[in-house]
Amino acid sequence: MTRLLRLLPLLLLFAAVLAHALPRSEPVPGGVVVLESDTPVERAWLGKRRLAVLPSDRGSIVVAGIPLSSAAGPVRIRLRFSDGREQERTVRIRPHDYPVQRLVIKDKRKVEPLAEDLKRIRAEQKKKHAALATWSGHIPDLSFRWPVEGIVSSRFGLRRYLNGKPRRPHGGLDIAAPEGTPVRAPADGTVLLADDFFFSGNVVYLDHGEGVISYYAHLSEKSVRPGEKVRAGQVIGKVGKTGRVTGPHLHWGVYLNGTAVNPELFLDSPNPP
Ligand SMILES: [Zn+2]
Repeated sequence: MTRLLRLLPLLLLFAAVLAHALPRSEPVPGGVVVLESDTPVERAWLGKRRLAVLPSDRGSIVVAGIPLSSAAGPVRIRLRFSDGREQERTVRIRPHDYPVQRLVIKDKRKVEPLAEDLKRIRAEQKKKHAALATWSGHIPDLSFRWPVEGIVSSRFGLRRYLNGKPRRPHGGLDIAAPEGTPVRAPADGTVLLADDFFFSGNVVYLDHGEGVISYYAHLSEKSVRPGEKVRAGQVIGKVGKTGRVTGPHLHWGVYLNGTAVNPELFLDSPNPP
């Protein structure tokens, strides 16, 4: 008993580490659903999308990204256990009203691209989709640290109008910072893509494992190459204003099962350092 008591702080610390390693469950469009299973899960799906499965002290934890375009209401998550049995869990997605944001972009071509730009944009979308479809078996550390020092300038999910025209909702979190501020990996990962895109400027994509991908846009500089392994806190680039921007900032995206989710759900502190 005494020995167990002596071990208790260590056990509590271990439990805290496990608890911290998960995003907050927020079952809304653009949010994250965290499901626990006492039976070890071999694979899990939302529709046809494979979901991240993490080991836990009791069994498994399934982490699902809910698309921003999802309607409120029930979604079914399919689990397959190690013994081949399957189970369906129903999760109710709550409605969430994301605010509207109207922006004025001076470079009109970045809002209404020319025919010659469209070819480039389509090629870049292919690269992006390939990056987001990456699946590596590495178990991701989902307790992220802020990738940059600065001020949150646009939250995730804002319904955007650019120069008065409706555009896709904001798929990431914008952090305003002076040009040249170092951008750091929020967790260990592997560089999938380091490229220069029409809308996003200089971009870096990191693979954290189990379909968890993070994305950094508008960089002035990329400091990593595809295939390179990075550690949490390692500099991967610098804040810039390349691509479609109103000023220097980092656009930070987090993707689960190929879908953009709110990066703030992966952070412990509400504000960047
Ligand atoms: Zn952004």
